[in-house]
Amino acid sequence: MVEITPIPLSELTTLRSGGVPARMIDADTRDELVDALRDTWAAGEPWLVLGGGSNLFAGDGELAHTVIRVRTTGIERLDDPAEGVARIRVQAGHGWDDLVAWTVEHGLAGIEALSGVPGTVGAAPVQNIGAYGQEIVQTLVGVELIDESTGEVSDVPAAELGLGFRTSVLKSHYGSVAERDAVILSVTLDLGIVGDAALSIPPGQLRTALGLADDESMTLAEVRNTILSIRARKGMVLDPTDPDTNSAGSFFQNAIVPEDFARTLPAECPRWPVAADSGTATATAIPLAAYDGTVPPIVAAAQDVKVSAGWLIEHAGVAKGFRLPGSRAGLSTKHTLALTNRGGASAEEIAELARFVRARVQSEFGLTLQPEPILVGVEI
Ligand SMILES: Cc1cc2nc3c(=O)[nH]c(=O)nc-3n(C[C@H](O)[C@H](O)[C@H](O)COP(=O)(O)OP(=O)(O)OC[C@H]3O[C@@H](n4cnc5c(N)ncnc54)[C@H](O)[C@@H]3O)c2cc1C
Repeated sequence: MVEITPIPLSELTTLRSGGVPARMIDADTRDELVDALRDTWAAGEPWLVLGGGSNLFAGDGELAHTVIRVRTTGIERLDDPAEGVARIRVQAGHGWDDLVAWTVEHGLAGIEALSGVPGTVGAAPVQNIGAYGQEIVQTLVGVELIDESTGEVSDVPAAELGLGFRTSVLKSHYGSVAERDAVILSVTLDLGIVGDAALSIPPGQLRTALGLADDESMTLAEVRNTILSIRARKGMVLDPTDPDTNSAGSFFQNAIVPEDFARTLPAECPRWPVAADSGTATATAIPLAAYDGTVPPIVAAAQDVKVSAGWLIEHAGVAKGFRLPGSRAGLSTKHTLALTNRGGASAEEIAELARFVRARVQSEFGLTLQPEPILVGVEI
């Protein structure tokens, strides 16, 4: 565990915003991570664990927090829990996409559609990362967690993490705090042992995205490569030469609304049953009539519907590439949902754009979009 001279968060987050924190500690091993957390908690300092900084929107000013950088790595193959199933344990700081590449190389199925998602393995359960019909909840056995309240480490099964649509008990949504203040030390996954065989991909979001004909199948490596190219076309794979990737991915979550409210939206607005993602989704939008300036997460009912935030933004008149006059922040030129830093934008410039987009959608469609990244030291 090494205390280092604090680095501005604008250099450590993919949205490239954020001031200098009070303290910064690098944890390179699991024990160092545990020690750093216990020391920080004992001192009563405000704290923030930082993985790849790809889901963080940090404010411009100095940050009172001690930032602990999670830099632990390692993949361990445990005993197979059943025939045809491989169990692996991965340290929290391991790169998510490096893990996906490793699983594909070893013929293990279950997270290949999550190729190209930036960030670390330990942050993945925090918002139950998902893409193209796969979410980590589908393969997650559990996590090794250290709780702030006790400083104790325990193995927590996935079922106790409240994993839902871009949420878990560990995520602080804008306007509310996390249900459990804890840090993931390692993650355990169960994956199918499939080798390099061509797989029949069942009908659904992934098969549609891959554009497979009726009788076509794909190997894990082919799925990964196809997903990586689809994502690159949308600016959703980090690329230092492409300003469209200076983002936190989707800035706003698809909105989850009651079915009768969804019926008031134009019929062309894409919508899906909530159950298509996961059963325990929390709501991400509230009708304007109930809006009091905050966006508390509310529990979704079975009949709730997920509607496309990208469609709502575009049809509220905010097009890809949109920038407010003189601003260095703009919507991605490839993806309406990504707010991007076009070079040197302050957090306030990005926040101004977020407020504008949210207000346009509010006045056009009467619902309030919930940001997906964690906001620290900044308001929208
Ligand atoms: C270009 C781009 C594309 C993206 N595409 C997707 C996508 O397809 N699907 C998707 O779901 N997300 C996507 N994201 C969002 C992001 O990649 C994920 O949320 C990712 O899991 C964040 O990991 P991180 O290590 O960068 O987290 P950070 O940004 O470092 O942290 C995010 C939050 O998690 C907390 N945290 C970090 N590590 C831990 C830990 N070990 N234990 C507890 N809490 C922790 C942090 O304190 C913070 O609150 C995208 C982002 C970008 C920039």
